[in-house]
Amino acid sequence: MINKELLKTESEKLGLTLDEMALERFDKYAELLVYWNERINLTAITEPDDIILKHFIDSLAFLKYCCPEKGASLIDVGTGAGFPGLALKIARPDLNITLMDSTQKKLGVIEEILKEIGLTANVVHARAEEAGHNKAFREQYDFSTARAVSNLRDLSEYCLPFVKVGGKFISLKGADAKNELEEATVAIKTLGGNVEKIDIFELSGCGERAIIQIQKVSETLDKYPRPKGKMIKQPL
Ligand code: SAM
Repeated sequence: MINKELLKTESEKLGLTLDEMALERFDKYAELLVYWNERINLTAITEPDDIILKHFIDSLAFLKYCCPEKGASLIDVGTGAGFPGLALKIARPDLNITLMDSTQKKLGVIEEILKEIGLTANVVHARAEEAGHNKAFREQYDFSTARAVSNLRDLSEYCLPFVKVGGKFISLKGADAKNELEEATVAIKTLGGNVEKIDIFELSGCGERAIIQIQKVSETLDKYPRPKGKMIKQPL
């Protein structure tokens, strides 16, 4: 059982009002996360208050700085145990969410959690650099997002191809965000992006966080994303 009051007050600080249904869903999510984590390695964060702050609130901070229109489509690349994508779905059930990961067993847990909390999302087992060439995913989304998957330069190559021109890639980052952004400048331009803004904030006693918003201003060239080996050998 999580401290719903803490979740409620912390989300209010982000300007969000979670209704009783959302609080119940987060409670169940936390319970299942701890249960499955004993069977499959999902997260090092298992204390209830830490789950609230470092997973739920950290994910929901997205909505303080960026407010997708009703029914907008969003893909979470490398969602793992559902962060930020599944947390966003609970707070905003109207969003059309795709949760992508290269590890099938994590997605099995996600499907189980979705069923238990009574929500639906598109759960996709794929590597971002391959799915980015698939017409079903390429330039199909209003938003792409990711947390703790890769450095911003490589992450831009994973995430920008999924976004429609006019949409945004929202990157959730930690204290090193400004340096990552500097290193990713060429990649972002090359992939059709333009940095719109970076918001840096303190996550309730858990350290500095940043939300980087990158607008998709032109189509991504067909050759991107490249296979991972090439991304490592020839970084943009
Ligand atoms: N986003 C989650 C979070 O913040 O808790 C999970 C982070 S975990 C450190 C990184 C996740 O990205 C893993 O679940 C891994 O399987 C996935 N991943 C790594 N590279 C990927 C790729 N190229 N395509 C899709 N998923 C990938």
